[in-house]
Amino acid sequence: MLSFQVKNLLQDPSLSIPVKDTWQIPTVKVGEEVYPCLSDWEIEGSLRSVSGEAVVFDGTVKTVIRMNCARCNKPVVYPMEVTIRQRFIKEGSEADVSEEDFDYLYISNDRVDLNETILYEVQLGVPMRVFCKEDCKGLCPIRGKDLN
Ligand SMILES: [Zn+2]
Repeated sequence: MLSFQVKNLLQDPSLSIPVKDTWQIPTVKVGEEVYPCLSDWEIEGSLRSVSGEAVVFDGTVKTVIRMNCARCNKPVVYPMEVTIRQRFIKEGSEADVSEEDFDYLYISNDRVDLNETILYEVQLGVPMRVFCKEDCKGLCPIRGKDLN
């Protein structure tokens, strides 16, 4: 799990902190659905400061999940690559949060915690539905037979 001390970063904008980690996460849950992860989550990115009062994490998370075809229900291996940009601002800071193009979280006790952001963004990255192939014909509505 990932949490970083960013005190130095806030004081020196020329610094950045590389972020690299591997998580063994068995499943991704989205609402009622549970998708097995077929590979570890590979997290890579960096933290940098954007002013004395805010830091940004830019990174990607890669994993492979198993879903089912929305038409014929066959298992589909779905590789994910989720791009994340998350801003953290100092609590009570004057950092400009009005012209934000993304949501922000707070830096608390000079630390930022990436765990919640990563879990949330991966959940968001799961598509509503996938198909085993673009023109999957699905199942016969009467007999349930695979029409492919
Ligand atoms: Zn299908």
